Amino acid sequence: MRKPCLISYESVIFPEPVLDRILLNQFSKSIESAPSYWVVTSNSVETANAIIKTIRQHSSPNVYLRPVVLLYTQSIPDNAHESGADRHYTIQQFDQTLLDELNTNFEPINSWIEKLPELITSSDTSISFKILRFISSRNITIEPVPSSKRNSGYIYPLLDSFFQKDDGSIFQILQFLAEQNMVASTFFTRSMSCSQCGCAFLNFRESCPHCGSIDLGIDELVHHFKCAYSGEISEFRVQDRLICPKCDSELRHIGVDYDKPSIIYKCNSCQHNTQAPRVTTTCYQCGKSNEPEYQNDRIIMSYNNTSIGINASIYGIENIFTRLLETKLRIFSADSFQDFFETEKSRIQRYKISTSTLALIRLLALDNIYVQLGSRARDIFNELTSLFNIILRKSDVLTLRHDSIFMIIMTETDIKQAKIAIDRLQDGMTKLFENNLDIDPKTESVLEVISETTEPETILEAFVNDSVH
Ligand SMILES: [Zn+2]
Ligand SMILES: [Zn+2]
Ligand SMILES: [Zn+2]
Repeated sequence: MRKPCLISYESVIFPEPVLDRILLNQFSKSIESAPSYWVVTSNSVETANAIIKTIRQHSSPNVYLRPVVLLYTQSIPDNAHESGADRHYTIQQFDQTLLDELNTNFEPINSWIEKLPELITSSDTSISFKILRFISSRNITIEPVPSSKRNSGYIYPLLDSFFQKDDGSIFQILQFLAEQNMVASTFFTRSMSCSQCGCAFLNFRESCPHCGSIDLGIDELVHHFKCAYSGEISEFRVQDRLICPKCDSELRHIGVDYDKPSIIYKCNSCQHNTQAPRVTTTCYQCGKSNEPEYQNDRIIMSYNNTSIGINASIYGIENIFTRLLETKLRIFSADSFQDFFETEKSRIQRYKISTSTLALIRLLALDNIYVQLGSRARDIFNELTSLFNIILRKSDVLTLRHDSIFMIIMTETDIKQAKIAIDRLQDGMTKLFENNLDIDPKTESVLEVISETTEPETILEAFVNDSVH
């Protein structure tokens, strides 16, 4: 049975039931036996958050995925939910009963984590993938909360600790995962933000439509029912009473003697009066001013796990890659590909007038490429799929094997033409990744004219073994 583990640091306060401990500064090393949950004690959200960042930024899923329980050593602060902990209590609330209860409550998360292959040895470096694993491991809705600490105006407290910087990339990553159906998104709220820098802190102000000045005075309009006179309230003021300048009666009761139909804006710069001032919004961060309709009206979502995402987060990022390509390219299953191949082989033998070619291309170090691309992965993979769509013909049949080897039946294409096409494809891939990454993505290929004796599976096997050595 797993037990909780306290993260110990210089001024740590120990909770009552004695817990296993680990020193915060030993945290960067590999941790072999993970607890049922991490316990952090602190009297401030900021200190707690710094410790929780160490947990979530650890590369081992055995560490960063485990639940975190935060025990406040004093009262629970108003912004307690911003700490990034899975749960929080006061240190006094934490007793043997709660300790056991939490063990039971976290059981589904922990058994999910323990299903991960190579749990102890694996090291997750892609933030997108860590976020995906985290959301997949928890059967809860990940909701944003408004926060003035972030330019975006909203944070996802549970996910925020995964990031070192506040660069807004959380929104891109979540959008990317949602587009791949790896997480499900639901409308949460909408928020205005600067069209230039994305900052949510905008200053809304009325300005003079005539001269643009924001130095406006506001006056109320008064409408006297009895004589139908309308004018600014200042015209009615006689000491502390309201007297109609037209008929000299006193206005006593609003709603009975008079009403205030609107307000009037008086420009102190050009003396222009208006009932319809312009509204401008100015960004607190970059200073850009715009009318509200030209700022971004962002939709902020909440997120849940999906079965596709859970699958991808257990079996690895290569599946993400396959998925990305499948949405844009017509990729056949291995079985359908084999069927097409048999048909093509018999067609060639029967009519003896065609030449077709089987081509295999491998893109090496795919997971590495994915990690480096991070949130740009979507754009790059879109370009990659267009490359395939431009160079291959509609009659070519494509399958993806071992998540990185493309097998292609190039119909009515002799080996010379096939080589030209495959060279262009490899060239395009190299250029695409070289321009976006600082590594040579390395591609390899093999071509064979389809004959009676051609066996795709045998060629594939040889190709796989070849590049291992
Ligand atoms: Zn003016
Ligand atoms: Zn009057
Ligand atoms: Zn701005």
